Amino acid sequence: MEYFFNFAKMSYVQGLTDDGCILCGLTERKGGENSLRVFEDDLFLVVVNLYPYNPGHLMIYPRRHIEDIRDYSPGESARLHELTCRFLSVLDGTYRPSAYNLGYNMGSGAGASIKHLHLHIIPRFPRELGIAELLAGKRVLVENPVDTAAKIRAALGG
Ligand SMILES: [Zn+2]
Repeated sequence: MEYFFNFAKMSYVQGLTDDGCILCGLTERKGGENSLRVFEDDLFLVVVNLYPYNPGHLMIYPRRHIEDIRDYSPGESARLHELTCRFLSVLDGTYRPSAYNLGYNMGSGAGASIKHLHLHIIPRFPRELGIAELLAGKRVLVENPVDTAAKIRAALGG
């Protein structure tokens, strides 16, 4: 019974690792139907953003907890480029956006709420500013992120 208390599992239940990183916590969790994870390999995971800016808003992040793009290994950089291109094509086929924003928020001064490096891929659509958000001064969630994840997974498998 020496391993009765599994601290790694306890962290997973809380969704956080020891240093409180939500992405490291997510990495340790299993994917599944109700998960926002759409892809993983030995270096990266791809998830649907829980608070999407637009439908199809994805985040690609390394398994390793790093906080600066200069810490990517050459292998990670090459893989990241490959994955970015692949998921742009998946989004093209699934959502037919007219454009994309791709980028990082590095450091809290830049608006990074999560220190663990993650690349945002945000599809953009013509006339996406709706009347509701003009009136309310905020954006409207137009698709449940779990549905987005199911669509992306289907596109990858098909
Ligand atoms: Zn982390």
